[in-house]
Amino acid sequence: RPELEIRHLLKQYDNADKPVLNDISFSVPKGKVFVVLGPSGSGKSTLLRTIAGLEPIQGGEIVLGDEVIGQGDPASGKSRRAGAAGVAGQSRSSELRTRVGMVFQSYDLFPNKTVLGNVMMAPTLVQKRNKEEVKREAIELLERVGLADRQDAWPHELSGGQRQRVAICRALILHPQIMLFDEVTAALDPEMVREVLDVIVELADQGLTMMIVTHEMAFARAIADHILLLDGGKIVEESDDAEAFFEH
Ligand code: ADP
Ligand code: ADP
Repeated sequence: RPELEIRHLLKQYDNADKPVLNDISFSVPKGKVFVVLGPSGSGKSTLLRTIAGLEPIQGGEIVLGDEVIGQGDPASGKSRRAGAAGVAGQSRSSELRTRVGMVFQSYDLFPNKTVLGNVMMAPTLVQKRNKEEVKREAIELLERVGLADRQDAWPHELSGGQRQRVAICRALILHPQIMLFDEVTAALDPEMVREVLDVIVELADQGLTMMIVTHEMAFARAIADHILLLDGGKIVEESDDAEAFFEH
């Protein structure tokens, strides 16, 4: 069974005259990397945000593992309730939210917490896990992304590439079933792009299930198991062959 299944997803913003995502269906098998491509404004970011539970959907279902984590509620666009993106319009629980990890273009680290504090925060506060155990895992994750020596630094002392790697650790420590990456290198200076992409490639090699929106085409070609091309609210092309996809 797929790790993530999207069934007939319909998303329309409040003030829009047509859906931004119109009857979208696909499934992501466990351990696979899906790259989402499409022109600016085609709904790539919206798609990831609905899966992360940050946007309500007006139709369809989002199934993670064997659980429906999002369900269309035709009225949900009308009154914008915070986090109203869960099952049948219910706000998604903190526990459910930790199962989908997301990293954004703009890293939103807590400025008044150190690197280690940022990574430890959600597992200790939301998941109520043992602090010593969380600390050990946080340090391990920071080592994996090459930030072992930066754990006591403050976010403002880091480069953009380092901040994005901290943001990745902050999501990973929650042990998400799937990781979503939305243009995570778009705001970085060119010399920092590689260090962030390398971390994502390593996660793919380890078998993490992922969905990635990116403008880095060489990276997309190298990492994609499957490509979704969005346009006009629809999936206009799908491919399991990245090489062939990028040939034309
Ligand atoms: P992409 O990531 O492919 O550039 P987006 O998902 O950001 O596309 O946006 C898709 C469409 O939805 C665009 O027309 C955009 O203007 C619109 N949109 C995005 N976010 C909102 C919002 N919060 N409210 C209303 N419209 C939005
Ligand atoms: P609360 O229910 O108290 O609002 P949240 O579920 O919003 O708590 O989680 C608190 C913090 O944990 C968030 O500010 C965010 O930084 C982090 N977090 C929660 N869920 C995720 C996630 N899926 N991916 C990445 N970080 C997350």
